[in-house]
Amino acid sequence: MSVPLDPDQSACIADNLETIQQRIAKAALRAGRDAKDVSLIAVSKIHLVDTVRAALEAGHCVYGENRVQEAAQKWPTLKADFPDVSLHLIGPLQTNKVSDAVALFDVIETVDRPKLAAALAEEMTKQSRHLPCFIQINTGEEPQKAGVMPAESDNFIADCRNTYGLTVSGLMCIPPQDEEPALHFAFLREIANRNGVAGLSMGMSADFETAVELGATHIRLGTAVFGERPVIN
Ligand SMILES: *Cc1c(COP(=O)(O)O)cnc(C)c1O
Repeated sequence: MSVPLDPDQSACIADNLETIQQRIAKAALRAGRDAKDVSLIAVSKIHLVDTVRAALEAGHCVYGENRVQEAAQKWPTLKADFPDVSLHLIGPLQTNKVSDAVALFDVIETVDRPKLAAALAEEMTKQSRHLPCFIQINTGEEPQKAGVMPAESDNFIADCRNTYGLTVSGLMCIPPQDEEPALHFAFLREIANRNGVAGLSMGMSADFETAVELGATHIRLGTAVFGERPVIN
């Protein structure tokens, strides 16, 4: 059963999207960039289908989910209703979910190890869906976090391109909670530049303007678009 959102909440999401676009435009201007080169990924994880639908109805087309299983429950119907949607996988991907991920997502942002790169390449060939990939870099070298270590990034990017034949469209990072995000954004850009990678997925609700000033081509915003995520017990 689908419960329609109360009209206030839909209006609020539409307003949020509008406000965010204005803030992106200002940050881009400060950096001498074109705001059109910054894509807002609305991170819909945990939010209910009807909440996401409000953003879709407001005309927003780019979304991010962090779990394959959750996305597979929410998105097939939404994609059927809104065929222009582009869905980014922004969370860790296990090799046993690669087939579902390739079928559902349009961009994989979290490629971070050879085994996954190989599995993705094989599955994309099988499904004839050659998706753009981002390589996740663990810029803070945090042991518990996904992502390639910075020292291994040049080799891994080259292997993704040459050994596995993936289309490396960008790099992605999630800075450590307690560190200045600007340092990580600048570091990610440096790795991208020296490897000739164009895309930079960096910046979340709390720091996206800084990310835009430092060259983000994709910012991943959940709370700023949809409000706080519901608490699941
Ligand atoms: C949840 C999530 C976001 C969005 O976080 P907000 O702070 O709500 O904007 C961005 N990137 C990743 C990888 C996430 O998991």
